[in-house]
Amino acid sequence: MTSRPVRIPLLIAKKRDGGSLEASELRWLIDAFARGEVPDYQMSAFAMAALLRGMSEAETLAMTLAMRDSGRTLALDTPGPKVDKHSTGGVGDKVSICLAPIAAACGLYVPMICGRGLGHTGGTIDKLEAIPGFQVDLSVAELEALVTRLGCALMAQTVDLAPADRKLYALRDVTATVESIPLITASILSKKLCEDLDALVLDVKVGRGAFMATEDQARSLARSIVTVGTAAGLRTTAVLTRMDQPLGLSVGNALEVAEAFDVLRGAGSSDLLECTLVLGREMLLSGGIEHTEAGAERKLLEVIRSGAAAAKMEAVIAAQHGDPRVVREPDRLPRAPLVCPLEASSEGYVQQLDARLVGEAAMELGAGRTRLGQSIDPAVGIVLRKKIGDPVRPGEALADIHAPDEAALTAASTALQRAYLMGDRRLAAEPLVIETLRAP
Ligand code: URA
Repeated sequence: MTSRPVRIPLLIAKKRDGGSLEASELRWLIDAFARGEVPDYQMSAFAMAALLRGMSEAETLAMTLAMRDSGRTLALDTPGPKVDKHSTGGVGDKVSICLAPIAAACGLYVPMICGRGLGHTGGTIDKLEAIPGFQVDLSVAELEALVTRLGCALMAQTVDLAPADRKLYALRDVTATVESIPLITASILSKKLCEDLDALVLDVKVGRGAFMATEDQARSLARSIVTVGTAAGLRTTAVLTRMDQPLGLSVGNALEVAEAFDVLRGAGSSDLLECTLVLGREMLLSGGIEHTEAGAERKLLEVIRSGAAAAKMEAVIAAQHGDPRVVREPDRLPRAPLVCPLEASSEGYVQQLDARLVGEAAMELGAGRTRLGQSIDPAVGIVLRKKIGDPVRPGEALADIHAPDEAALTAASTALQRAYLMGDRRLAAEPLVIETLRAP
């Protein structure tokens, strides 16, 4: 092996000039980076070269496997199929919180390793931490035991799972290199391949509130993840879903948890239920416990109707040291001191409701982070009263703002006002599901 000072600039230059790296070169780079032997500035330069020049499928696969192997992996000995769901991130996306217990109640085993909020998008871990007492920092052994016993557990990524991804992700976040399809593919799949899964269902969000703004970009990402995941031996399905307006009615951590529990109790808004059922169907089909879409949907609805899904969530919350009563009594979740409506000033129909601006308004309230490690307020957020296609009269509430104080309320009202576009004509929201890509 050539000495390090020569080799790394050569690898960076090869990518910068549009070349392809060998699998062995990528593994060497990732291993050395994980061990702390490649400094951040060189890895950042490599990430930028990869973003600008792209990476082939073979390179993306090699990078994914090297990142998976940078840490430990789960060993799950379950009597049924192990299937997880992951979202590329959006606003109001609380589907994981409803779907993990629903899928487990249907007989799947779901070792869900989730992330924190990123930019204007929320993260499942931040939402779960709104549940009093709930512990997201499980060890790998605890996760394995809970998944085997209960069928599901939800935890944050630990330092020993795909550590190369953790380090690289932090660098990408501050070097404008997040939006690379090969790098996103390697990042998501390296973590999911650690979970010892039989199948993975990915929700690729498209639109104003997502990282992929156009359908073409989202389709490319979905294809890349399905191809590389399948090549890595994981049955992978991707569903493209629209994220132009927030999913469901609530944005903000405790408010979103309460809405996820509504779904578990058989209520909840129609788009949130639809997204949960579509992704749940794919989980049951790819896990092989149902063979038709209609049969899968029946099973999902049955565990909601019978209360089995809500009971599963209560068991998971209790096992992770939280207060399980929140599932049936959401008033036990943290509540903001101020709740004020944002009133419409004119008559018409909601024609647009910009998910990114709603996410940013929630950040004004303290629901998300603007700096690494910043603490967030679990109680604050927004409950939408009007969404695309709804008629509005002057003085009617467009949304309720749950604020910590008057100053944050004013800032969030201004931001939220910009998210609503009103017009004379009623425009229906576009269909939620755009396309499903299954492995061949
Ligand atoms: N989510 C991830 O885990 N990684 C990315 O690169 C983007 C979204």
